[in-house]
Amino acid sequence: MTVLSTSPQRPSDVVVEVGEGNVGAAVDRARVAQREWAAADPGVRASALHAIADAVAASDLADLVVREVGKPVVEARGEVARAAAILRYYAQQVYDPVGETYPGGLSFTVRRPHGVAGLVTPWNFPLAIPVWKAAPALAFGNAAVVKPSPEATGCALALADLMTPHLPDGLVAVVPGGAPEGAELVARADVVSFTGSGAVGRRVAADAVGRGVPVQCEMGGLSASIVLPDADVEAAVADIAWAAMAFAGQKCTATKRVVAVGVDVAEALTDAVARLVVGDPADPSTAVGPVISAEARARVVGHGGRALDRDGWYARPTVVVDPESRLHREEVFGPICVVGVAPDVESAVRVADSTEYGLVTALYTRDLDAVLSYVDTVRSGQVKVNLPTAGVDFHLPFGGERASGYGGKEQGKAAAAFYTRGRTVQIKGNA
Ligand code: NAD
Repeated sequence: MTVLSTSPQRPSDVVVEVGEGNVGAAVDRARVAQREWAAADPGVRASALHAIADAVAASDLADLVVREVGKPVVEARGEVARAAAILRYYAQQVYDPVGETYPGGLSFTVRRPHGVAGLVTPWNFPLAIPVWKAAPALAFGNAAVVKPSPEATGCALALADLMTPHLPDGLVAVVPGGAPEGAELVARADVVSFTGSGAVGRRVAADAVGRGVPVQCEMGGLSASIVLPDADVEAAVADIAWAAMAFAGQKCTATKRVVAVGVDVAEALTDAVARLVVGDPADPSTAVGPVISAEARARVVGHGGRALDRDGWYARPTVVVDPESRLHREEVFGPICVVGVAPDVESAVRVADSTEYGLVTALYTRDLDAVLSYVDTVRSGQVKVNLPTAGVDFHLPFGGERASGYGGKEQGKAAAAFYTRGRTVQIKGNA
């Protein structure tokens, strides 16, 4: 079976067509390369990651991101810059302390790499997600084998081309393929990190747990933005329009539900969304490009959206106001969101928490008491105030609760714990 990736704005444009890769061979080579890498001086690992960061920053990968997944060019350039910044951030973390010392003889902890990290990734952040997993995996002495989404194979292979010249042979590999290759990687790796849909993530988690290897799954979301009457409503609406619709709503952190408390946001939001430029993602004025595929667009249309009559998988950004809409419960990865109301902030938080997901929630208000109570009670891995749900800072731990995340957070300083195992050492002298 071949892996085929086409451009969502011009479906006749074949970005890449390759045979699926050999997971077993990639993992075996990575395992050999990893032994020396783990023993290398931290400075060696730091230099390699800095060199890759330079190569990524100087690359034309943004054009490929635009072409392959239809990400608007301004956001695509931002993703390239972010990938370089993540590499530099973890390049420096190789110098961080690796444990603690304790009283009683010589007692201390160290951290050791797991071996081969199996990284299974989605298409919507085709550079940032593979990099935010691979960079810490490598920094802390692991090898990394990436199984990208078929729809982002071109970006992943281009990234591998920039990485491999700076690393020992076989230490990093990108293996094109679909579900069978993903499952095989989960069956062979020494540590597994997955980002994608909930259905696949739950299976990946169960398979890895069954083998007894550490696993982390970042999955879907149905993130809510709550607007209280004392908020700067204009600013909130501008934030929400962007968080719901930019990149055609195809971010796990996109606002999918709006809960208005004593304030009418539906009309202002509909107007703000109508002002967003829909069009060719290569045009810098575009905020909303196509969705990834014909199936993705059919799902948007099936939930109340409308297809646009032009080449490519475009759908008109749509704000739905309907208490019975399935959008209150189902994740639709597209430019569509639903507005509901609640009588007070407690009820609004209950509405935000009423789905199985718990990735990001945002509250817009100036009321400090409401903020403090919301921060304590909302059941969400990422909790924001007067900030859009979308937008992830690589130096902060990131991950969801309940059906949105399993196995702990990634990024920031959380990655060091995940990509290593702790050892406790006790030494007694003979004197
Ligand atoms: P997906 O679950 O279809 O695929 C993700 C990856 O898993 C792909 O590489 C795919 O080939 C692989 N895969 C499929 N079946 C597998 C199996 N049985 N075993 C192992 N691997 C398998 O997701 P997608 O459509 O690429 O991405 C969209 C989804 O990702 C959305 O639900 C979105 O919310 C979620 N997402 C979450 C985050 C987050 O951090 N929480 C970030 C981005 C995207």
